[in-house]
Amino acid sequence: MAIKAVKGTRDILAPEIRNWTEYEERARKLFRRYGFEEIRTPIFEYTEVFSRGIGEDTDIVHKEMYTFADRKGRSITLRPENTASVVRSYIEHRMDLQARVKRLFYIGPMFRYERPQKGRYRQFYQTGAEVFGSSSPLVDADTIEMVVRLLRELGLTGLRVDINSVGCKECRPDYRAALQGYLSGHREALCEDCRRRMETNPLRVLDCKVQGCRTVVADAPSIQDHLCGGCRSHQEQVFHFLDMLGVSYRLSTGLVRGLDYYTRTVFEVISEGLGAQNAILGGGRYDNLVKELGGPDVPAFGWALGMDRLMMVLGDRKLYDEEATFYVLPVGNELTYAVETAAALKNGGYHAVVLAEAVSLKSGLKQVNRAGGRFVLLAGESEKEKEILILRDMKNSTQREIFARNLQKEIKNEIAK
Ligand code: AMP
Repeated sequence: MAIKAVKGTRDILAPEIRNWTEYEERARKLFRRYGFEEIRTPIFEYTEVFSRGIGEDTDIVHKEMYTFADRKGRSITLRPENTASVVRSYIEHRMDLQARVKRLFYIGPMFRYERPQKGRYRQFYQTGAEVFGSSSPLVDADTIEMVVRLLRELGLTGLRVDINSVGCKECRPDYRAALQGYLSGHREALCEDCRRRMETNPLRVLDCKVQGCRTVVADAPSIQDHLCGGCRSHQEQVFHFLDMLGVSYRLSTGLVRGLDYYTRTVFEVISEGLGAQNAILGGGRYDNLVKELGGPDVPAFGWALGMDRLMMVLGDRKLYDEEATFYVLPVGNELTYAVETAAALKNGGYHAVVLAEAVSLKSGLKQVNRAGGRFVLLAGESEKEKEILILRDMKNSTQREIFARNLQKEIKNEIAK
């Protein structure tokens, strides 16, 4: 039996892949406009990077990691997200000494052992941005605005920024206690996971998708009523800068996000067309993570965007311009003339393919049809002698002779038609 791709993984093929590469090119260009540099960390790390970086009580660390022992028995994990790895790298390379504020972005695959469903894979792709070394609310707003701009420039509409604060070391314990008190009065109505979370990480209950838990959560105390002065003023300034930058947002008091490391700002960008898995990206501030992973006391802000979901939202919309390929058909045994013609086309920046396998005119044209091609250049022996080519348009089933020396000009006219 033929071997298939592993469950939850898939091949990204043409033409879909073209949207991916075009998106990646545009994203890279845009991020550089905002002072970000690319970083590529390994796709696997010592397990500790994630267990300490993401938090033991998260779903990711608890049950979704691809963890294995390498040949020397060390515990290795395929990265389920990239923030912890980027922080590991930031610390390892003492990037805090290189710049007061360091702006980094990444694009690449992540791995989580989740139940595959629409828009949810075991190997999926994220684009992310991280800013280290600034606690300014402007960084929060600016980094959110950057990704909103990216999505807008891709032509997306129906986007919504949901934002909240999860407080800090000062005020969260107070809120946590209030929430725990409330939840313990509704214990029976919570799902099994939430009864556990209630003890270890009650804020995560706010995130639960189970209907019974949602009903309980609807009347839970709001973190907004427990923020300390510093967190409140930070939030107000983030809103102020978002207003200034023309980003519309909605305060979403139940938003907490799945990862433990967030402080103050958390946010998600929702695409209204996506259904249940409707968050395209999420992120927030994580002022304690660098220190917790053994680095200097450096505040940070970041987000991660799910590229698979983004591509779903884009659907059939093409980000790239369709460029015509010219199929050069040797006709007969004479390959040289076809090769020269194709080289001239490529020199001019056109896409050209020699149909070296075509045994006849008929089989050549059939190949082109199957590939959905439109333009064919017949470049056989008799054409070579006359220094001409026959340019055939498959769409209209028309053809005409052109002088080889006028190739570039003729092609340009043909494409413009
Ligand atoms: P997270 O790292 O969980 O905050 O996720 C950030 C974004 O990555 C989400 O908003 C999703 O768009 C995307 N994402 C997370 N998990 C998956 C998955 N298993 N398959 C596809 N996309 C995912």
